[in-house]
This record gives sequence, C-alpha cells and structure tokens, in this order.
Amino acid sequence: MPINFYNTLTRKKEEFIPLKEGQVGMYSCGPTVYTYPHIGNYKAYIFADTLKRTLLYSGFEVNHIMNITDVDDKTIRDSQKEHKHLKEFTKFYTEEFLKDIESLNILKPTKFTKATDYIDKMVKIVKNLLDKKIAYKSVDGSVYFDIKKFKNYGQLSGVTLDQLKENAAGRITNDEYDKENAQDFALWKAYDEKDGDVFWQTELGKGRPGWHIECSAMSIENLGEQIDIHTGGVDNIFPHHENEIAQSESYTGKQFVKYWMHNEWVLVDQKKMSKSFKNFYTLRDITEKGISPVAYRFWLLMANYRTRVNFVWEALEGAETALKRLYGLYLGLGDTPTGEIEAKYQEKFTEFIQDDLDTPRALTLLWDLMKDESASNADKKATVLDFDKVLGLGFADLKEEIIPDEIKKLAEEREFARKNKDFKKSDDLRGKINSLGYEVKDLAEGPKINKI
Ligand SMILES: [Zn+2]
Repeated sequence: MPINFYNTLTRKKEEFIPLKEGQVGMYSCGPTVYTYPHIGNYKAYIFADTLKRTLLYSGFEVNHIMNITDVDDKTIRDSQKEHKHLKEFTKFYTEEFLKDIESLNILKPTKFTKATDYIDKMVKIVKNLLDKKIAYKSVDGSVYFDIKKFKNYGQLSGVTLDQLKENAAGRITNDEYDKENAQDFALWKAYDEKDGDVFWQTELGKGRPGWHIECSAMSIENLGEQIDIHTGGVDNIFPHHENEIAQSESYTGKQFVKYWMHNEWVLVDQKKMSKSFKNFYTLRDITEKGISPVAYRFWLLMANYRTRVNFVWEALEGAETALKRLYGLYLGLGDTPTGEIEAKYQEKFTEFIQDDLDTPRALTLLWDLMKDESASNADKKATVLDFDKVLGLGFADLKEEIIPDEIKKLAEEREFARKNKDFKKSDDLRGKINSLGYEVKDLAEGPKINKI
C-alpha cells in the first residue's frame, strides 16, 4: 500500500518514496527558546511526532533532527531584558520545552541540535556562498544572500519573480518578514552594540549568524546534503524555509528537501494564536485548569494537521471527556493478557494514517473497535496498543484505579441485595458508596466501581 503525503513544494499529495530504501532523514524546525511556547506552537511538534510515529509504524528507520534556536534576534533581546547571559537564559526555556514535549507524549528526536554548537559549520557555508558570489558583504561587514542569484527563489512559497523585481532593491536584517518584503536576507550579522556580549570571532569577522542559515547548517551536518522530509508550521514557509532552500541548494548544488510538510495554525476567535496578537495559551494554562496535556494532543488529532482549528475551552474539555471515556473503555477490557491484533482493523488503520495522516478517521476507527462486540477483550487490547504506537495517547501506561477494600465490600453487599431484589437496601448502599466518593455502574459484565 503506498504512503501518501501532501508536499507543499508540489502542492499535491504524493507517494512517499525515501531517498534510501527503508530509511528516512527528517528535520523539524524546533523552538526558539526565549519564552514558553504557546499551544499553537505545539501543534507543529505533535504533527511532526505523528508523522514520525507513522513512518516508524510503517517499518522505516527514522533519523529525526530537531534544532533548538538558542541564538537569534529574540533570544538576545529577551535575555538582555532579564539581565541574563544568553546561555543561562536559553537553557531554562530549553528545559521547560523538554518537559512539555514529554507531557504531550512526543517521542524525543534522534538528536536535538543547538544552533550555538554549529557556528563553524554556518561560517563554512557562508564563506562558500561568498566565494560563489551568491552572497555579498555589506559595508558594516554583514553578509547577505543575493536572492536574484538563485533562480528558483520562490518555488516553495509562491513568491513570484515579478514581485521580487519590484521589492528586491534592498536588504533585510530582521530574521522575520513577510512576502511583501522579499529582499536579500542576512546570513551573517556583523556585531552591533545591541548584541552585548553575544558574538563569535570568525573568519567572517565579529558577529553572529542569521536565523535561516542555522537550520541549513544543522540539517546538512546531521542528515547530509539531501533529506527526505522537512517539517514546520505554515508560517515557516516564508521566509524561513524559502531561504533555507536558497542557501542549501546554492551551497550543495542539489535538491535540499524532497517532501516539505507543514501544519496549519491554531486559531483563537478565528485569529491566528500568536505572541504578537497576545491571544495565546501555554500548556501551563491547560494544566492549571486540571486538563491533561494529552487531551490537547487528542483534540488536535481529531482534525487533520492541514486544517486550521479554532481553540475554545469547551472543545478541549469535550476532548478530555471523550479521552477519559476511551480510557475507561480500555480499562474495562480487564486484566486479561493482550491477545492478537485484529487484522481487519489494523489494515484500515494503516490505510488511514498512510493517507496524509488521516487521524480523524483513525480515531473513529478506534471508537468502532471499542464498541465491536465480535472482538475479544484480549484482541481489542492488543489492537488499541498497536494503534497507540501512532496516536500516542498513553493507553499502555493506564492503570486501574485502586479501589479501597471497604468500598469493594459495600459494592459486594449491594450486588447481593440487588440480586435478592432488596432494592431499598441496594439503593442505601449505593448512597453510602457515593458519599465515600465512589460510584457503582451496573455493566453487562458486572458492577464496575469508579472514583467520582
Ligand atoms: Zn528552521
């Protein structure tokens, strides 16, 4: 069965064929560690994780690199605001990020790469681009990429050459800008007093790298000149990924990435969740409301990664209730050892996720499986755990709640009264159990006790 992914580069769903049989080289643009990421940022990492899990599930070996941007305009600006050294400042937010991704059941990449560990590799690429006259030095010593020298500029984002002709007269020093500002961008930023003690003395002079060159250097160094998949949010398409292509392909002369995959935004009140709009929530806001981070993962999986989703608390609470129901159904399968994976379900599940990560259909299938009375509990368990290799909802770690003996005894007495049709006594006992914080549900397989 072919695996199909939507490729931003070709603007269509394509069969996934890796460069090397059975192996996938994958790069994900990671966090800029200057603050707590908002939950919209985490959509990108949950998407990349689902993609990686799908590839692993499909039998590929995956070499996954994710960068940590620990030097750029924002990290320098905010570390100075807090009067901290850049290293100390970024270390704190890196550690917070690692805790967050663990709570979201995101598998760790094969390697996290910190931008500051790759400065010499960045210098090597910039020097090569200067030698090829694709980059040039400005009067202050900064180095810019001449976008007119790269004939395919705009292939990913759709910025047209005509637009460039009108706008490309100048240069842009900021790392972030929009399509209307497509201009020569900074590969190396000459030292400026505003950078304080953040600089490197290199063959390019005293200064620091631009943001875009960081990802090109880390990707090439760890995964080689060509990779299979590069992921990020749609807001990375321009200028970041467009610039990564320009730099990398000018340096190597080869196609940089075969499949570009991007997730859509999380909206709040139909507006993009963003730091600049001040309409964002962090994972801390979610846990403070007593909602588990995995419920957020589950909520995102209910829509395709290429769909914009509108965040409202009621929807997240609804997702948590549904997830708890699934957990309850799973625990209700009992202590039986896991059986065999149901082949017909596995076949469908594989078909759905290999169709551009169709997680909404995969989740519907999970509900169908839970309700299927023709399957044995043992086989259902095995199948749920199999699906969870991709979904990452944590079924394997679920434990039956420990019910105190006193409650169990009361439930047994109630069951005895009920069987003897002594409904008054059984109701009284039910009330007593409730008053102690538990409830009894009469299911087909017998009474079930839960904590209220
Ligand atoms: Zn990047």
